[in-house]
Amino acid sequence: MKPKERMAIQRHKPKELSPEERIRNFDEIVFGYDPETARMEAERCLQCKKPGCRKGCPLHNDIPAFIKLLREGEIEKAYWTIRKTSSMPAVCSRVCPHEFQCEGHCIRGKKGEPVAIGMLERFIVDWMVENNKTLMEPCALPTGRKAAIVGSGPAGMTVAYNLAHKGVKCTIYDSLPVLGGMLSVGIPAFRLPRDIIKAEFDALKACGVEIKSNITIGRDKTLEELKSEGFDAVFVGIGAHKSRKLGIPGEDLKGVMHGVDYLREVNLGADLDLGARVVVVGGGNVAIDVARTALRLGSKDVFILYRRTKKEMPASQAEIHHLEEEGVRLEFLAAPVAIHGSKGRLDRIECIRMELGEPDESGRRRPVPIEGSNFMIQADSIIAAISQNVDPTAVKGIEIKRAPWGTFEVNPETLQTSVPWIFAGGDDVLGPQTVAKAAYQGRIAARSMVDFMEGRL
Ligand SMILES: Cc1cc2nc3c(=O)[nH]c(=O)nc-3n(C[C@H](O)[C@H](O)[C@H](O)COP(=O)(O)OP(=O)(O)OC[C@H]3O[C@@H](n4cnc5c(N)ncnc54)[C@H](O)[C@@H]3O)c2cc1C
Repeated sequence: MKPKERMAIQRHKPKELSPEERIRNFDEIVFGYDPETARMEAERCLQCKKPGCRKGCPLHNDIPAFIKLLREGEIEKAYWTIRKTSSMPAVCSRVCPHEFQCEGHCIRGKKGEPVAIGMLERFIVDWMVENNKTLMEPCALPTGRKAAIVGSGPAGMTVAYNLAHKGVKCTIYDSLPVLGGMLSVGIPAFRLPRDIIKAEFDALKACGVEIKSNITIGRDKTLEELKSEGFDAVFVGIGAHKSRKLGIPGEDLKGVMHGVDYLREVNLGADLDLGARVVVVGGGNVAIDVARTALRLGSKDVFILYRRTKKEMPASQAEIHHLEEEGVRLEFLAAPVAIHGSKGRLDRIECIRMELGEPDESGRRRPVPIEGSNFMIQADSIIAAISQNVDPTAVKGIEIKRAPWGTFEVNPETLQTSVPWIFAGGDDVLGPQTVAKAAYQGRIAARSMVDFMEGRL
């Protein structure tokens, strides 16, 4: 195809469930490409000599190479190209915030729309599944080395994936009854179907990785005990699961919940009724997922209260668009200052209007309260989704260096903590971030753990 013809092809939008259909269930909203659409979208790629997309991908996947192979009909080869650097392509292709990562750096985005890299990756992985192809290469022969992994989220899972392929016997411990960390108890199934997460763990188990659920390290078993049981090194990938509080009067009233706690309970099967009118506080992925989940579970009037404007919302545009289509209302430049109620239960939220001042350390304009602008909102529930901290139970009894805000301090090159046999990565090092960033750290940590176990670190 001539460059001019390539440039003339417009980005292919995927088919989706209509808002009316989807707000009644947790079915996946976005459909994958059919083979012809995938091939045509792949034709849009300009095969840049210095591909920005690869730099923008936290895992540095060889994006131009897999797109070229897809174009040539070599889908299996395209899949194994992705697998060289990605431990969970089926997950990343669905939930990565592509507009801030690979697609945000695509040259075609400068004068139009970037290549739909996420959708192409998804097509390749789905094709492998539909055609019953093996999803993981065989693991290496055992070397006799053993590693324990605390946390089965993207970081821990990636450590296990990489170590198993180096012949290290891995055991993953997780305090929850389900695997995958925030993939299973945070991100809703309508964005990430659960059979996809299960397939990743089935492949890991087939590789000899042992998985022990319902065990909280630091409570049921300590890290020191794991060491004395013969594990040569430990990876701590416990994420950031402790909800940050609003810190306003009335937060202990009935009807007040916190974002990741609500999603965890729902995802573990609890039957939670938030009532008809729900206010969600925050502007990120968690707030959006809470609002859309509440809607699907029967709340009629759900709105998000955000202290800045739509422009500053850290969530991806695609998610904001879906949210609005589903009828969640957005109330910008407002923040709660107190929660009022009677007989121990909330009934009103007192809010204040904000205006944007000078940019803060994040580069976004700081919200400043407008004095005397307080107003009331009637509500049955309020869910605060304003970030999470690390729950350090896992390292109880161990002197390990942590930053003032609670994340683990690690050597940035090796991810080794201040205790040489303990490595850490993912949200417990970076703070709440993304799947691909956690997976990348898992890959680095696995490499360092092998160096440590073989006496090079
Ligand atoms: C609602 C929501 C939506 C999100 N949406 C996206 C998105 O669209 N795209 C994206 O890229 N990222 C998204 N993220 C962020 C992403 O899920 C996280 O960055 C990622 O899961 C972090 O991986 P992790 O392995 O570091 O930790 P987690 O995924 O948090 O896993 C940590 C695991 O450790 C376990 N654990 C904790 N303490 C112990 C202990 N003491 N003993 C044993 N086990 C323990 C936990 O049970 C958990 O299973 C979202 C997060 C949330 C909450």
